[in-house]
Amino acid sequence: MTIYDSGATLLYSSIDDYGLGYLIVSFFGVILLQDTCFYFFHRGFHHPLVFDWLHQGHHSSKHPTPWTSFALDFPEAFIQGLFLVAVVFVIPLHLLVLALLLITMTIWAVIKAMAENSLATARPSGTALVGHGCCSVVDAYS
Ligand SMILES: [Zn+2]
Repeated sequence: MTIYDSGATLLYSSIDDYGLGYLIVSFFGVILLQDTCFYFFHRGFHHPLVFDWLHQGHHSSKHPTPWTSFALDFPEAFIQGLFLVAVVFVIPLHLLVLALLLITMTIWAVIKAMAENSLATARPSGTALVGHGCCSVVDAYS
């Protein structure tokens, strides 16, 4: 028996349970929530007390590639992975929405890494101004 089978999560498989409108709103709502959480988690990862053991590995990539978005130290990957695990216990999500969230977040991470690489190579020095692009906004306000 899985946790899903036990009914402990709020995952559902019939669109009729909450309707098509809720399905669409839940997708965009969780995307917005994930992006907001990621921003604040990322700010926390840059705190001097945790940066070296939690986020340094991600910043070891000096020339970002699409794979850079997945270059995470285990503690950081674990914390970020907990987001979707926690969400399925507090927000009703259709299984299709959960799959689309994973696909969207993965594609978005790759696109961001590719865009960061383009921005880095477009600069006269060929390097990012502050680390690589995904962290530039956080670094700028840290
Ligand atoms: Zn960072």
